[in-house]
Amino acid sequence: MHCFPVYEFHDINAENFANIADFLKKSSINKKWNLMIIPFNEGVQPSVLKAFGERLLEWKREGHNLYLHGYRHKAEPILKRSLLGRLALRLTNCESEFAGLSKEDSKMLLTNALLEWQKLNVGEPQGFVPPAWYGSKMLFYLCKDLGFENYNSRFIVWNKDKGSRISVPFSTAGLPRFTIPIVNLCEKIYLKLYKIFNFLPMPRIVRHPMEGSKCPH
Ligand SMILES: [Zn+2]
Repeated sequence: MHCFPVYEFHDINAENFANIADFLKKSSINKKWNLMIIPFNEGVQPSVLKAFGERLLEWKREGHNLYLHGYRHKAEPILKRSLLGRLALRLTNCESEFAGLSKEDSKMLLTNALLEWQKLNVGEPQGFVPPAWYGSKMLFYLCKDLGFENYNSRFIVWNKDKGSRISVPFSTAGLPRFTIPIVNLCEKIYLKLYKIFNFLPMPRIVRHPMEGSKCPH
C-alpha cells in the first residue's frame, strides 16, 4: 500500500500560533499537517488561550491533526533521569523532557500535559509525539494505554489500526546553518525517489515555527 509523505509542524503554542497561520493557509491547499501542540499555558492570558483553542479547532475542521507534543517541551531539572536521558538533555538543549524518566514520572508528565490540553477545549489529541522525539518503549505503551491512536518516535510512525511504519524525518531544527541547504536538498531528492520507490521508508517533512515561511515541497 502506498503511503504519502507525512507533514509535521512542531512546537506550536499559545505564543506562536498566530505567526504560522499564514503558512498553514498557503500550504494546506493540498496538504494536511500533523500539528504538534505544546499545551503548557501557565501565564497565558485567558483571552489568548481562548483564541489559541479556537484557532486549533479551525485547523482541525480544515483537516489537520492535533497532536499532543509533551507538556512544557522543557525538561524539569529536579526529575531523576538515566545517564542516557541526561545525555539527551545535553544534545537537545533540555527540550527532550521525557528522556530517561521513570515510568511514574513519565506518567505524571503525561497527566499534566493532558490536563493542560483540556483547557484548550479542542477535543482529544489525535496522537502523541515526545519533544525532540526522545521517548521510549515504556512511554509508547503508556500512551497506548491512555488511548492515543498515533505515536511517533524519530524513525517510527505508529497508528492504532495501521501498525508501525519506518519513517525518515527531514528536519533542520538545531542544525548548524550551513547544513540546512544540504538537508533541504536531500529532502527534495528523497521525495522524488519516494514517488518512484514507495517501498522506501516513508518521508516525514518537519517544520518548526522559526522556519514556517519556507514552503514545503
Ligand atoms: Zn518539539
